[in-house]
Amino acid sequence: MSLVVVNPATAEPIAELERAGVEETDAAVASAKAAYPAWRAVSPQDRARLLRRLAALVEEHAEELARIESQNVGKPIAGARGEVGMVAQVFHFYAGAIDKHYGETIPVAGGVDVTFREPLGVVGLIVPWNFPLNIASWKLGPALACGNTVVLKPAELTPLSALRLAELILEAGIPEGVVNVLVGKGSVVGQRLVEHPDVAKIGFTGSTEVGRSVMEGAAGTIKRVTLELGGKSANVVFADADLERAAAAAPYAVFDNAGQDCCARSRILVQRGAYDRFAELLVAATGNVRVGDPADEATEMGPLISAAHRETVAGFVPDEPLFRGDVPDGPGFWFPCTLVEAAPADRIAQEEVFGPVAALIPFDDEADAVRIANDSPYGLSGSIWTRDGARALRVARAVETGVLSVNSNSSVRAHTPFGGMKQSGFGRELGMEAMNGYSEVKNVFISTEV
Ligand code: NAD
Repeated sequence: MSLVVVNPATAEPIAELERAGVEETDAAVASAKAAYPAWRAVSPQDRARLLRRLAALVEEHAEELARIESQNVGKPIAGARGEVGMVAQVFHFYAGAIDKHYGETIPVAGGVDVTFREPLGVVGLIVPWNFPLNIASWKLGPALACGNTVVLKPAELTPLSALRLAELILEAGIPEGVVNVLVGKGSVVGQRLVEHPDVAKIGFTGSTEVGRSVMEGAAGTIKRVTLELGGKSANVVFADADLERAAAAAPYAVFDNAGQDCCARSRILVQRGAYDRFAELLVAATGNVRVGDPADEATEMGPLISAAHRETVAGFVPDEPLFRGDVPDGPGFWFPCTLVEAAPADRIAQEEVFGPVAALIPFDDEADAVRIANDSPYGLSGSIWTRDGARALRVARAVETGVLSVNSNSSVRAHTPFGGMKQSGFGRELGMEAMNGYSEVKNVFISTEV
């Protein structure tokens, strides 16, 4: 059965691909397994050189990759260029990480105790449609750096950039079989990877619901899993904050990527004394978000990924929201920037919308802010806006999420750890932390006794 890939901005087909099934999945795992002994034996310097070459090829092909991603996901081209820039940075970072991921020597009686960081073997990487190439690179970088071989399954809606990357991986000189890309259904290819006895780990990014089934499926073979799941992050604005700055930044923390961002600060918590002023500034700033053709250099927000997803998002919005923006006419899965006033227990304040919809929620004081921020099954990211440094630190320690920013909404960098708490998942991507997730510590005692 073939798969038709669609441009969400036009609803037009842009590619038709063959879908892999269980047989092709087994063949890809076998190919990764066969490539593993030679790949893990490549010297650290040579492995680093190959990853560096891949980073350089991504840079050389940046415009092409950005256009593929923009067309397939409906991302504004300027944002897509930034994402491809990060993909290159990620490969550069992990090329440099290879000879800095040390074991230990541990004082023991009667000999020497050393630890090694061993690769796991074949790892299955399952990624979503919202940041296809970026999230693939966050997993590929450390997986390859540690000496694993890989089967990568992009989301069915957005396979094109991963397929192009697979070509660049070969062009970089990374041997055939080290990275295998499979286009197919999650319930078929993904599920098979999760259950396959020759797959040592699953690096998964996607919804909490599918993450739960990945964890269940992995139990059969005691597979390692890293789960990067959904979020409902809080952007907490105290009355003493620079309200103009916080309000100018807030729309981009929700509406970037049309809200289809696991880190979206989609609950905006504002202290009562500043609520009216902030709401006024936020509405004005949201009205300025430029929604339109992703190929246009000035566009800041494109369409949603699919017609079905647009229906899901629409189901969250009341008839009379606080603000509803404009969208282009004609085909494409457009949805306007939307602001809704909400109470902490409302559905819109509890569930991940994954669209350009923000819930504005008032709070009384610091304790109330922390209570509301933590009133969620999720714990991925969030922001704190205040001029009081001690309060920023207190609240940052009290909020139960894996990634936070103070007086900023930026939380993702190639060299800093990223991941969730609670039902946003576990394990960390990016930075040196990710190297631990794609290797296992082996402890060896060497007797020096005669
Ligand atoms: P999804 O869970 O539907 O799909 C993710 C991937 O899993 C896809 O490749 C899909 O084909 C595959 N899959 C589906 N069923 C499977 C199964 N039974 N076994 C194995 N694999 C299966 O998610 P999505 O709709 O593509 O992406 C949106 C979700 O991803 C949101 O909830 C979002 O918050 C989350 N997300 C999280 C992060 C993070 O880092 N925490 C980043 C981006 C997206």
